[in-house]
Formats: sequence, structure tokens, C-alpha cells
Amino acid sequence: MQESKYGKVTPELIEEFKKIVPGKVHVNGDINEDYFHDEMPIYGKGAPDVVVEATTTEDIASIVKLCYENNIPVIPRGAGTGLTGAAVAIYGGVMIDMSKMNKILGYDKENFVVKVQAGVLLNDLAEDAQKQGLMYPPDPGEKFATLGGNVSTNAGGMRAVKYGCTRDYVRAMTVVLPTGEIVKMGATVSKTSTGYSLLNLMIGSEGTLGIITELTLKVIPAPKETISLIIPYENLEDCIATVPKFFMAHLQPQALEFMEKEIVLASERYLGKSVFPQKLDGIDIGAYLLVTFDGDNMEELEAITEQASEVVFEQGAIDVLVADTPAKKKDAWAARSSFLEAIEAETKLLDECDVVVPVNQIAKYLTFVKSLEDDYDFKIKSFGHAGDGNLHIYACANDMDEAVFKKQVADFMKIIYKKAAECGGLISGEHGIGYGKMDYLADFAGEANMRIMKGIKEVFDPKMILNPGKVCYKL
Ligand SMILES: Cc1cc2nc3c(=O)[nH]c(=O)nc-3n(C[C@H](O)[C@H](O)[C@H](O)COP(=O)(O)OP(=O)(O)OC[C@H]3O[C@@H](n4cnc5c(N)ncnc54)[C@H](O)[C@@H]3O)c2cc1C
Repeated sequence: MQESKYGKVTPELIEEFKKIVPGKVHVNGDINEDYFHDEMPIYGKGAPDVVVEATTTEDIASIVKLCYENNIPVIPRGAGTGLTGAAVAIYGGVMIDMSKMNKILGYDKENFVVKVQAGVLLNDLAEDAQKQGLMYPPDPGEKFATLGGNVSTNAGGMRAVKYGCTRDYVRAMTVVLPTGEIVKMGATVSKTSTGYSLLNLMIGSEGTLGIITELTLKVIPAPKETISLIIPYENLEDCIATVPKFFMAHLQPQALEFMEKEIVLASERYLGKSVFPQKLDGIDIGAYLLVTFDGDNMEELEAITEQASEVVFEQGAIDVLVADTPAKKKDAWAARSSFLEAIEAETKLLDECDVVVPVNQIAKYLTFVKSLEDDYDFKIKSFGHAGDGNLHIYACANDMDEAVFKKQVADFMKIIYKKAAECGGLISGEHGIGYGKMDYLADFAGEANMRIMKGIKEVFDPKMILNPGKVCYKL
């Protein structure tokens, strides 16, 4: 834990918390170590002094008010699946665990919205919406993250290429401010020009501006059918070069992912099942596209498949494998969904970046990144959302000293972030800045933007108690 200017969580204060939420306050040895880190422990760990299981907006407001008065850090936490160290208590304090606020409060089917508590898991909303004939389009890889976490990181995911990111589905929210005040932002309307959009400031603010307790989210009528295509290529360059051609042919994939052979093999080893071909017509496959289209009926999707096949064969695809049954689609997407777990299973030291570059720069960017591999002792693995240029690049090592790994990775990241900027890209497409990426943000944002971001933080959080030392503000 880092040295800080904050107050101490005294036994008296803990008693006050217990009066507000009896049976929901955990201290010291009682706190599970899972709360000390997120899914990227390489960015460091931190033990909160107290974990409070949140149950209502009002209780959270009362706890935060006490923290505000006593100058205690407050860290909102969803499911802890973040990849930037954002939900880690680096200065100790009170962690507000949102995962028990997990009720779906109801659908308004005439206005196509659903109201949820912020701790509802993405998976639970996705399944429930489906039963209503509806779809909540954002589809980040980790289905057991909370919706509050998704909104706080503006999570993206597989379907962003057609439907957009979490931001595009947030209509309104209830927020506890760092002062303990409760405010509502947004409304169940589909457009607004009503002053500064505080709602949009909250989205992607990574728990630094307020604690989201309830959300009103847009849903859409669920597409009736989907079809997935596995498209193997000899090399990554041909594979990536196909991406803009889909859009030029007026094809609108729901998901468009690229993956290199090595990562597919790791995933298949992890799952114990082989779905992606490794050799076709005597050609070693080097990379794949995994594409999903949705529509009203199978005839429409078969016509789209034919058109898509023409496009990809012109770009050097070796074959088009159609997954048109639930089992085949599940197998193909299971491999893609398990990439991170598969890498984690085979890797002791891991760091990642989630840059986003313009779609027409992907191939150039990845070729550059791969050219650096010989300069370092770790392995580089990549996959990503080809349709929107969001690339996940992993540095993986098994037999390096951790300090050497961190030093080499810092050097590597600096270089590849610089290149992303040159390509017209940004530091993060969907994971956020959190703690792990803070050192790089200023290079992308520039001085004036950093000043504005810090000013916003000061207005929301005058005592700097909410998730301190994250995103834009170092203490
Ligand atoms: C296997 C795997 C695959 C993944 N795939 C994707 C992907 O495809 N796309 C993607 O975008 N991300 C992905 N992620 C990252 C992660 O799942 C997302 O960042 C997710 O949105 C985090 O949600 P969470 O509930 O776990 O939040 P946490 O990790 O608990 O918190 C994340 C941040 O949100 C804040 N926060 C959480 N809840 C609230 C709240 N109610 N109010 C205010 N602030 C809050 C925290 O303080 C923290 O800053 C993946 C992660 C894993 C492990």
C-alpha cells in the first residue's frame, strides 16, 4: 500500500458503518485476498481496510458521506475483472462491493429500456433480455463482469463493430457522488441537448467521479438468426487486409475478430477441443477471421454468406467454414472467448495493451509490433476486434525475473504506444486507463486535455477520496 494523506479507518468509524449496513462490513483478516487485485495483478495489489457489501443507494450514500467527512478513500468495485488495476485499493480505505446489488428492476418494452442495479452481471442481463425477445448488444469477453463495471470502463467487446460500445446503451443512471449526495443523470429518452452531458462523463470514468448504483440501459429487438464464419488465411497481412472490404461491400458483421494461429492453438489446448483448421490444401494456416452476421432468417444469412465468401476469396482466404448450428457456433466462439484464460494458463508473467488504431492501419501496426519481438526476452501474442481496430497485445514470459520483465515491458509499451499515436490511434479502446496505463495517458491527451480532466476530477471529488491515484490524477 502507498503512503497517503488520508485519514485512518478507526474502530469507531467501522462501528458507524456496521450501524448503516449490519452484517455487510468486512475488516482486515476477514477480507478475501481476491479484493486486493483485479485480473491484471502485475499492476500491483492493495488491501482495503474495509469491504462493504452494498445493498441500497441510500446506504452507499451514508457510507460515502462518513468517508468524505473523515477523508477516507472509497473504491467502487464490481466483479474485479478489470485489466488495468482500476478497482484496487492502492491507498487502503473502504471498498464498496457492488456485486450484491444485482437485481434486474424491470423492462419498459415501449421505450426499449431495462432498469438494473449496477451489480447485475452482464451474463444475467444478456440471458434475461433474450427471454424477453430482446438483446442488450454490448458483449465484452468477460460475461461475469458487472454492468456498473462495464459502464465505468465503457466496455466494448465483440459486437461493437455493428452495435457500438456500452456508452451507446446508457440512457440514465443514479450516482452517489464523493460527497455522499445522490444524483440522477440522463433520462429514458433517445436524444438530448440538455447542457453538458454528465452522463457521458460518468461513462468510462473508472470509479473516479461517482458510484453508479442504478442504470437505465437501451435494449433492442433480438435478431432472429445468426451465422458465424471461420475464415482461414495463410498470413495475418491477407487476413487483416480483408477487413475494410467487408464494409465497402455493404456487409455489416455483428462481430469481426482476427486471431493468429499460435493463440488459437493455445485456446484449443486450454479447451481440449480443436475447431480451427491448421492446414488446408497443403497450406499452413497463419491467421483467421471469425465473423458473425445476424438477420431475420437463414435465407438472408445464406445470401450474406455467399457475398462475404466472394469478398474474402478475392483477398486470399483459403476457405470459408460455416458455423450455422448452435453447437458449431458455440465451439467457434468458445475458442475466441477463452483467449485470455488460455494465455493466463500458460504464462507466469503477463502484461497487455488494448490500443485502438484506424482499421486501415491494423496490418501496418501489427507488423511493426511483431518486428520488435527479437528485442525482448518475452513472447508477443495478439488478437483483437478487427472490425474496429481494437487490438489486444500481450507480453508473456515464463522464465524471466519479474523486475526484468517489468523493465522490458515498460520499454516495449512506450514504443508501441508511440507507434499507435503515429497511426492515429489511442491508448485504450475498451479496458481503460486505471492504474496500469496512467503513465502513458498524458502523451496521448496532451497538456491542455490533462488539465481539463484533472479539473473535472476536482469538481466531482474535491477531497480526492474516490478511487484515488487512477486515470488522470496522481497524488
Ligand atoms: C477474460 C476477460 C475478457 C475480457 N474481455 C473484455 C472485452 O472484450 N471488452 C472489454 O471492454 N473488457 C474486457 N475485459 C475487462 C473487464 O471485464 C471489463 O473492464 C469490465 O467492464 C469490468 O467490470 P467489473 O464489474 O469486473 O469491474 P471492476 O474490475 O470491479 O472495476 C473496473 C472499474 O470500474 C469501477 N467500477 C465498478 N463498478 C462501479 C460502479 N458501480 N460505479 C462506479 N465505478 C465502478 C471500478 O472502480 C474500476 O475503476 C475482460 C476481462 C477478462 C478477465
